[in-house]
Order: sequence, then C-alpha cells, then structure tokens
Amino acid sequence: MTTRGAESEVAGSAESLEAPTVAAAVLVRNLRKDYGHHEALRGVDLRLDPGTFLTIFGPNGAGKTTFMKVLSTLTRPTEGIVHVGGKDVVKDAPEVRKRVGVISHNTYLYAQLTGLENLEFYAGMYRVPNGRQRALSLLKRMDLFTRMDDRVGGYSRGMQQRLSVARALLHDPELLLLDEPYTGLDQHASRVLAEVLQGLRDGTRTVIMTTHNIQEGLSGCDRVAILVEGQFVYDRRVADIDTSSFQHTYFTCVHEELPEED
Ligand code: ATP
Repeated sequence: MTTRGAESEVAGSAESLEAPTVAAAVLVRNLRKDYGHHEALRGVDLRLDPGTFLTIFGPNGAGKTTFMKVLSTLTRPTEGIVHVGGKDVVKDAPEVRKRVGVISHNTYLYAQLTGLENLEFYAGMYRVPNGRQRALSLLKRMDLFTRMDDRVGGYSRGMQQRLSVARALLHDPELLLLDEPYTGLDQHASRVLAEVLQGLRDGTRTVIMTTHNIQEGLSGCDRVAILVEGQFVYDRRVADIDTSSFQHTYFTCVHEELPEED
C-alpha cells in the first residue's frame, strides 16, 4: 500500500509488490478515480494476501466507498490496475463478481419478496448448489429464521442489514467487502455479525471493512489503514501497534482534534 508519509511498515505493501511470495487476493496499483473534476481516489496501491482482514478508517468523503465500489466492479477505475484473485475488475468483471460478496448502504434486497425468497433468488443467480439449504442455514445464522416468510419491506433496518449479510455470504465469496456493516444494527445484532465475521476467518477468505467505529474496526482485523482525501496515509499490522492509542493516531492522520470526553 502506498502511503503518504512514513506510516507504512506492512510486509506485502507496495514496496514488496515486485516479488510476492503468495498470489495476491487483492492487488491495486496506482488506482485513480475521478468523478468529473473531483479526484475521489488519487493513486492508491494495495496488496493483500489471502486470509487478511483489513479495516479501513477515514473521514466522510475520503473515498472509502468509492474504493469498495471499484473492487466490486460497481464503478470503473479512471486509471490504474485492480485485480481480485488475479482477475481484472474491468476486463474480467463477471469473474470478479463471482468472487466478491458486498455489504453496503444498499442492501440489494427486494421489498416485495420474503427473506427466504430473496435469498433463493440470489442463490439461483449465483448458481449456489443446494441454494435453499444454504439460504435456510444463513437465515438461522443471522437470527432471521422466524421471520423468513415475511416480506422484507416489513423488516426493520437492522433486520434488512442482517439479511443483506446473508445475501453477501450465499456464494461463499473469497473476498468480502463490508462498507460500514454495523450501521443500523443493535447491540445483539452487532455481536452476531462480529461472531459471523470471526467464523468466516479460515485463513483463505479475505475481508476489507470500512467503519467509523474504532473499537469495532480494530476488533478482529489484522491490518488497519487510514484513507484521507483519496490516499492511504497509514497502514499497519494490528499486531505491531498499540491499539489503545489508535484513536489519537487516527485524529493526527486526519488532521482533526480529538473530541473532548464528557
Ligand atoms: P463516507 O464516510 O461519508 O461514507 P467515503 O469515504 O465513503 O465517505 P466516498 O463516498 O467514496 O467517501 O466519496 C468520495 C468523494 O467522491 C466525495 O467527495 C464524494 O462526494 C465523491 N463522490 C462519490 N460518489 C460520487 C458520484 N457518484 N458522483 C460524484 N461524486 C461522487
């Protein structure tokens, strides 16, 4: 990962891209994304080994969602190379989509269908073997089994979010992109999600998560980065940092004052 300043000390970062020891799960080089005259991403580099859980922090408008959209093929890079599992997000977009699961502000659910029908629809689309069984098992895992025959339009925001987690996991993606996944979840649902995410860690599945919550973001991840104005300004292994002072690090990186305690 290329970072402004001297905050990058992660093995497998941009400096070691030339001689990777393991095929990268995600490889990004000089990624730029413009919206008209606005530069949302301004030269991002990243290399993630399979099995890595990376959390990206950053203030509003830093480019986090844009970065996730590029990785999930929802938007095209203006410039640069972006590979997921060795596949190019532009040239091999259908292949990339099969490998990626996305949880974002948009749940991609159909309000007129029930929870089960939604999952069965997506299972069909992804050609998931034993789709119904997989759907039922995920509904149980996300604590939605008793509501699976209700229309999703009647679900609370948190229930829809939980169902969208199940949707994203249906095809057992090798890369999971979680854009503020805890938004709208109550304490219980947050705990369920945290447990589900931990359960997904099998040494090969790669996860990238964005969040504004420092505690949730640091828990369970093994690499942490900060994006500011379309560039990574910080990238460390969690094992190498003092997590208790990370809040201070964050506010220093984003050039903001620490909020005063009550
Ligand atoms: P937040 O924490 O508020 O969700 P973010 O880090 O996810 O912010 P992005 O949503 O990626 O930030 O936005 C990065 C910049 O790109 C912002 O200035 C935003 O206004 C701009 N932007 C994002 N999407 C579009 C779009 N479709 N058209 C024009 N500008 C956009």
